[in-house]
Formats: sequence, structure tokens, C-alpha cells
Amino acid sequence: MAFSQPTDDAQTPAVCQLCEESSDIRWKCINCDVFMCQLCTTKIHTKLKSTDKHELINLKDLGSENAAKTICKVDLQNMPCTVHNDQMCFAFCTDCDQPVCLDCLIESHEKHKFRKLNEVYDIAISEMKELQNKLETCLQFYGNEKERFEKLLLDGDKKFQEIKDQILLTEKEIKETVSKYAKELLQELESKWKPTENKITSELAGIQKNQEDLTSRETSLKKTLQSHQASEILSSRKKLDMTLPEISVESVNCDVLKTKFLSGNKFEKQNTRSTIFGDLYAVPDLELVRSYQSDFGNVLDILNCDNNTSFIACYIDRKLQKVKFEENNIKVEEDFSIQVRNMAISMIDEILLVTGESDIKVISVDKQFKQFKSFSPLKAISVHVSQNNEILVGLTECYPVTFPAPEDSVRRVVVLNQDSDLQHTYEYDKDNKKLFTEPRKIITLNDNIYIIDKINAQWEGRVIVIDYGGQLLWVYKGCDNNVNKNKFYPTDITSTSSNSILISDQQNHAIHVLNPAGDVIVCKDIKPLGIELPLSLSIDINGILWIGCNTFKVDKDGKAKIFAVKNG
Ligand SMILES: [Zn+2]
Ligand SMILES: [Zn+2]
Ligand SMILES: [Zn+2]
Ligand SMILES: [Zn+2]
Repeated sequence: MAFSQPTDDAQTPAVCQLCEESSDIRWKCINCDVFMCQLCTTKIHTKLKSTDKHELINLKDLGSENAAKTICKVDLQNMPCTVHNDQMCFAFCTDCDQPVCLDCLIESHEKHKFRKLNEVYDIAISEMKELQNKLETCLQFYGNEKERFEKLLLDGDKKFQEIKDQILLTEKEIKETVSKYAKELLQELESKWKPTENKITSELAGIQKNQEDLTSRETSLKKTLQSHQASEILSSRKKLDMTLPEISVESVNCDVLKTKFLSGNKFEKQNTRSTIFGDLYAVPDLELVRSYQSDFGNVLDILNCDNNTSFIACYIDRKLQKVKFEENNIKVEEDFSIQVRNMAISMIDEILLVTGESDIKVISVDKQFKQFKSFSPLKAISVHVSQNNEILVGLTECYPVTFPAPEDSVRRVVVLNQDSDLQHTYEYDKDNKKLFTEPRKIITLNDNIYIIDKINAQWEGRVIVIDYGGQLLWVYKGCDNNVNKNKFYPTDITSTSSNSILISDQQNHAIHVLNPAGDVIVCKDIKPLGIELPLSLSIDINGILWIGCNTFKVDKDGKAKIFAVKNG
């Protein structure tokens, strides 16, 4: 008999089918297809003929997968042949991929290969199980993906609406402000003109009346004079009106003629959408790519060259290394013993080094340091090569510098052209105040010069931005998101291909991202990435941000780490 459908509770009879008394049915014999009570399993069922191999299933397990398997196993032994209805299948033909009975075997499966029915059954079950697992994994995956995309849709739409509202609000505010200004000005203009206009109009009316009056008197006089009768002339004389209007010179002060409108400079060339209205900026999502262990106490400067090599420098350890960053380690290609503060690549791919001494040095082919340019008696403490191949140098009268800068000190940034001739010197603002204290890092972007200026021995500082004319554009002193509120410890600065400015903030363990106008796009806490005390920054040709770090003072023999961060 075949159990093609799983037996369910509905088919359970009211009383035991063996003793026909007990209503407490506990078991079902799959082979006999009989429900029975606990007692009958031993008292009656075991005594029936060849029941020792019968499969008994507890009723409470009847719906389970194991029960189904057991039922199938029994069913397997009683499977009628689909061709020969009176025969039971007893083997599985692997050539024909079907169960066969004895008649089948004789009739049509000669020389075929066979396997045991239960073996094939087990394989089928395990194949299905495997598929089931795969389906479940697949479903799980799509479930997660669905959730992820739904969240993305929700988040994206929310952010879209938020920014859209901000843009519309800005538009409204600017429009309202502009309309208010226009209205004010029109009123002011009217107050200049309207009273004058009225005065002139009334003057004109008076003049016209006088003119008409005089003209009519003149006409009548003319008529009299044309008379041929002397008596008329004489009689007219008596009636002659000799009065004349008093001629007064009325001066009207016409202010509007002495007025001029000058449009504000908002829409001049240097003001773009971003300064007039605002702009959309990409918020970088810093993602750790790799981390490296240097053998420096700190990485004061890091410089990526195009050919996959980099230079790293530690001033206090008197170490400079030419390295390759490999998968997991730093491969040191050359080791130099020199105190380097800052490095830059010249237009002819020379490595320029400043050491706090008077000269900029270059590494010669025979790996010696030769003088590139001397600023004696001043000390060169920072160097940068611009896109136009100008060389910018930070200069001080002494190194290490003293804080605060004494009156007679020299704290200066100079620009040299490609031939190393001095082009510009920046030291004082327009009020003749010192611009810098310790100009320790310099970059250029869009014809402006960005300088990290350290202002005290506690590493506090600011970012000073000037144009090539030396005009101070803005000063950035950190933002409120910092761990150490209102304290800013800028150590290095670099710019991305999308013109964002990145500033490492050592004691706050942060990277500040600014737009070129000095507005904060984001202040990124990098501690969660495992990056602490960022000291030097560099962006390589692949756009990867390299962060060289300091070590904590308490960690005397600590070695600084270097991190490669995707700045997407
Ligand atoms: Zn019974
Ligand atoms: Zn049985
Ligand atoms: Zn058959
Ligand atoms: Zn066959």
C-alpha cells in the first residue's frame, strides 16, 4: 500500500484499531497502517506475524520530517510498478532512471545497471535537502538585499528631500532679502525724486500761468499800438497795467541728478554659485584600506611619488626612508639619516627636503644631500611645489621656533618661480600684523595658498588662506565637533581631486574636510577606524589618502602607524 499523502490527525480513529477499546491512541504502525494504544504496541502488535521490522511512529511525531521519511521508507518497500500493476518495484535502474519490478527487469532492462531502491531514495533526499538549503540561503540573501535597498531608498529619499528643502529655503531667503533691498532702494530713490518732481511741476505750472498772462497782455498791447486813432492810444494809457511779475530765481535742488547706483559685487566674476548661493559637496566616506607599522617614533611627513614609492620622515629619530608599501608591510628601499621636517617633489622629480636649517636640500643620484637653495640666515621649515611649479617655502628666524613670535622675529612664506627666483613674500597682513607664527605646512589650490600655522607649543594652530597678492582670505580655527571643544591641532593639509581640503587634527584624532571657501563639509572622527594622532597627510595618484601618525608620549618605545584610507 502506498502512503502518497502524509497522514494527519483527522484520520486518527476514535479507538485503538487493535483492542477496539482504548481511546488513548499513541502509535501508528506504518506497515500495518493501524492506529493503536500504548498497550497494544506490545500486547498485540508484536505478536502479529513478522512485525519485528515494522515502523511505529508516535502520533505526536506524525507530522514531522522524520516521520515522513520513515513512512516513505516503508512505502519504498511497497511501491507498485507503474507498468505491471500487480508487481512491487524492488530495484532502481540507473540507466533508465526509474524503479523497476521483476517483470520490468526481464522485459526491458537487460544489461542495465541497478542500485538499491533505498540508496537512490537516500541520494534523492540528500540532493533535495541540499537544494532546500541553497534555496534558503538564496531567500535569506534576497531578504537582506530587499531590506538593504528599501532602507537605501528611504534614506536616499529623506536626504534628497532634506537637501531640496534647504535649497528652496535658501532660494526663498535670498529672494526675500534681495526683494527687501530692492524695495528699500526704490523707496530711497523715490524720496530723492518725488518731492523734487512735485516742486518742479508746480514751478512749471506757475511759469506757464505767468507766460500766458504776459502773452495775453502783450497781444492786447500790440493791438492798441496798431490803432490809427490817437485818442484811443491816449485813453488806453490811463488803463495801462504797468505791473510786471516779480522775477525770482527759484533754485531747485535736484538730488537724483547727483545720485548713482552701483551694483553690489555679488555677481562679479570671482563670485560663483557656491559663494552667492551655495553648492552641493561630496561628503567623503573614509574607509580603511590597509594599515602599516613603521619603525619611527612618528611619521612627521609622508610623500607619495608617482612610481609607487614613497618617502617617510621622522625628524626626532633622524630618519628618512624611501619605501614601497606592499600588501602587508613596508619595504624599505633606502635608509637615510637626516632630520627632515617636510618634503615636496620638484618639477623634475627631485625630492626637496627642508630640515629646519637654512637650505632646501635635494637627494642627488649618488644619494647625497646637496643644497638646492639657501635662505641663510633664515631657517626653512616647510616646502611645497605648486601645480605651476612654483616653490613655496615657510621661513622662520630660528628653529625650533619660539612661541609667541617675538616682535623682531621672522615668520614668513615665500614663493619662488621655476628658476628659484623670489616672486612673493608674505609676512604681514594689511594692518601690518604678523600673518604667521610657525608656517609648518603649505599647499596651493586654485590660486590660493593654504598654510598650517602652529601657534603654540601645545600644537594648537589654524589654517591661514591668502591669495598670491598676499591678501588674507580666511582663517580656519577648527569646528565644534571636536573632542577637545574649541581646540584645534592641525598638523597637515592636502587637497583632493574634487577640490576638498583635508586637514589632520592630531589631538582630536580627526580629519576636517573643508570646501575651498573654508566651510566645513564634515569633521571626520577617525578614531573608530583605529587611527589616532594623525600627523601627516598625502594623497597618491590613485586618490588613496595616506595618514602618517604620531605615538602617545606615555608610549616611549611606541612605533608610529601609517594608514591607507579610501576617500570615496
Ligand atoms: Zn489497543
Ligand atoms: Zn505492524
Ligand atoms: Zn514492472
Ligand atoms: Zn533500465
